[in-house]
Amino acid sequence: MSCEEIKSIIPLYIKHTATDQDISKVEEHLCICDTCRQHLAQLMDKPNAIPVTAPREETLPEIPIKKDSNILEYIMLGVGAAVLLFVVSLLIKG
Ligand SMILES: [Zn+2]
Repeated sequence: MSCEEIKSIIPLYIKHTATDQDISKVEEHLCICDTCRQHLAQLMDKPNAIPVTAPREETLPEIPIKKDSNILEYIMLGVGAAVLLFVVSLLIKG
């Protein structure tokens, strides 16, 4: 199947109105065709939702940054790290 044919089915594929046959054709094609994958990604605006055959690097979940997070906690972490470094450097110096 050509890219043009696939691209004509992709909108149906996204809306889940494509036939089972078309869906499998699209999915097979997407596995081998970057261009159509990107096309689909643009249409869906969700690149991560695109099936790929090659293993992808795991994307780490976004860590929500709390705006009201406790600054003291960070300070304590920093102090703790500094103390640890200090102790380690003392140990190394022997
Ligand atoms: Zn293609």
